[in-house]
Amino acid sequence: AKKNGGGQTVFFIEDLKEALTEKARLERDLRRALENDELFLHFQPQVSVTGGGITGFEALVRWKHPDYGVIPPNTFIPIAEETGLIISMGEEILRKACQQFTDWKDEGYRPGCLSVNISTVQFRHPQFMDMIKQTLATHSVAPSELILEMTESVVQEVEEAFPVLQQLHQLGVRVALDDFGKGYSSLNYLKSLPLDILKIDKSFIQAIHLGTREKAIIETVMNLGTKLEMQIIAEGVERPEQLEYLIQSPSLTYQGFYFSAPLPPEKVPTILTDPI
Ligand code: C2E
Ligand code: CA
Ligand code: CA
Ligand code: CA
Repeated sequence: AKKNGGGQTVFFIEDLKEALTEKARLERDLRRALENDELFLHFQPQVSVTGGGITGFEALVRWKHPDYGVIPPNTFIPIAEETGLIISMGEEILRKACQQFTDWKDEGYRPGCLSVNISTVQFRHPQFMDMIKQTLATHSVAPSELILEMTESVVQEVEEAFPVLQQLHQLGVRVALDDFGKGYSSLNYLKSLPLDILKIDKSFIQAIHLGTREKAIIETVMNLGTKLEMQIIAEGVERPEQLEYLIQSPSLTYQGFYFSAPLPPEKVPTILTDPI
């Protein structure tokens, strides 16, 4: 950016222009990514704290950009949400995940449950339920095998969220509350909404070593979830001490680098028992 007589103002406007062009470029690239099938999924196993048995997989999206290489979701999901591209992208992600699960089952594997992340923007879209039903109908994934992961921002609007969550519940699809405890959690919706699974945010798990206060919080959250008859998943388990601590609650499942990072789909069969 060059200066002229006016100085600062011109400079600022040019910076802003640059930022806008950068965003516009990413948006354009993202549209192209959908057309050219540049999105792909990794799958992270969810395991029981006691035996290490795999109960399911969470699908996590990645973008193979032709110039920049693999881009993580935190960089492009927000742009997809702002531009509305998340609607078609989210549908594509669910479709890909269901297709992969169908393939594994056709090959004789039993991958357990399939968890897919749903953005708040997707959840609020009027065709959301139709999209879910349609995708399930065209793949051999039963509603009971599907788990939709949503963050607290989805359920904040309790009145709006309730009917859709109720429909998912009636369909037999389970809903997991993701990153629980990360934001300013209100406990109100936990009692009033049909939520099946509580995913305890990794910041809690990673604070386990810190001491009794942190443990008291985790234990309270777990008790609460259990009393509300929700299944609990601990996120971000990286160290043996963390798992050792979590084993005190034998019904827990967990995800984390300690067992496995998210895997490319071709690696998944290597950690599942042989096909029947
Ligand atoms: P999330 O749903 O909370 O997913 C868990 C994230 O934690 C993943 O990052 C995963 O790779 C990472 N993780 C797993 N185990 C560990 C661990 O032991 N330690 C640490 N530090 N991290 C661990 P990823 O794949 O980069 O995804 C980041 C976020 O992007 C996700 O957070 C989710 O909010 C969003 N996201 C990912 N895939 C999708 C998608 O298909 N749709 C939507 N709407 N959002 C997605
Ligand atoms: Ca998630
Ligand atoms: Ca999470
Ligand atoms: Ca998240």
